[in-house]
Amino acid sequence: MDKRKIENDVEIAPNDKKKSLKLRRLSAFTLGLFTAFYIWEARNSIKMALPFDAYKDKENKLLELSNRIGITIDPEIDDNLLIVYYGLTNDNLTNEEKEGFLYLIDLLRDNPYIDINTASKYIANLDVEYPIKINERKIVQARYLYSLNKIRMYQDSLKSDEIYIHELIHAIFNHGRALDLPEVIVEGVTDLLVNEYTKYNWQDELESYVFETVMIKVLCEMTSSDTILKTYTLGEMQYITDDLKEYMSDETVEKYIKLMTDIFDNIYFRNKVSQEELDELLSLTDNYMNDKYPNDEIVLERYNYYRGILDKMSSDELYLEAQEYIKHHESPSYPYFSSQLKNKYIEENDGIKTKKLVLTNNQ
Ligand SMILES: [Zn+2]
Repeated sequence: MDKRKIENDVEIAPNDKKKSLKLRRLSAFTLGLFTAFYIWEARNSIKMALPFDAYKDKENKLLELSNRIGITIDPEIDDNLLIVYYGLTNDNLTNEEKEGFLYLIDLLRDNPYIDINTASKYIANLDVEYPIKINERKIVQARYLYSLNKIRMYQDSLKSDEIYIHELIHAIFNHGRALDLPEVIVEGVTDLLVNEYTKYNWQDELESYVFETVMIKVLCEMTSSDTILKTYTLGEMQYITDDLKEYMSDETVEKYIKLMTDIFDNIYFRNKVSQEELDELLSLTDNYMNDKYPNDEIVLERYNYYRGILDKMSSDELYLEAQEYIKHHESPSYPYFSSQLKNKYIEENDGIKTKKLVLTNNQ
């Protein structure tokens, strides 16, 4: 009998021994696959449901980590690095995937709000997969599936490190209340963290979430970097709204958050942003910045640069126009989260806020 026929004509000639054997094998195989998948899923959810104590034997774990990666770790202040320990000892991950955690050491050290136990539990059980159909979604290059605790890369390797690191940051932070935050906060802060902690050209605004990261920079100026980090990490918008109330009425704050969320939802779903809504958002932001920083030329100059980018959001070719704008204007290169970059900025600028102001006053 023709071999190909057996493979293709599965429903004809049920008496054919070879064929039924093949069929049985096939179903056993499929059944096996499904069973394996469900067992894996069940085991994974049982694992995630079991109590987890990240701090158990903490000193030894941090000592082991210190020896393994060759940095000094103080168990009194470096608890956040337990997350790196659980990443490096996770057997689901390849060595290349584990290396991603080494980029996150300063990022973890700079954040006092992390729920170390939850983050460690997710990272200890994290998995990364590369679907067979690469680029099945052309817009999305990777995704963190929080309910499965899996990073799905729509590419065949970790060639693009920063995309993988972006997903690792989601895997550390985006649980519990943080899942309810507006998309602009989740993606904007995640990408800004990737920029400041992992990129050589950290000030570069030419990335996929350009409008989201710029909006986060503006929100950092309106409130503070600490407020934004706290909001992102604890998943509580209240920290932002409370700060905004200093220069806005309660109703205006509510309106402002709604406008911002609407506009960025449209950006996210690739819908056109309404000019009217954008004008209103920018004018409320202008008023706020002028009230908060009436004489601070440096901050206002920085804001003006960001405003020029946000202004492109209602264009048809918003990404192209933003790129053109960025090419023709000098970035303020001002860091918001990385303490290392902030210290460098202060050193290079002779104390952040004084230099240009003194010059202006003398003229
Ligand atoms: Zn993301």
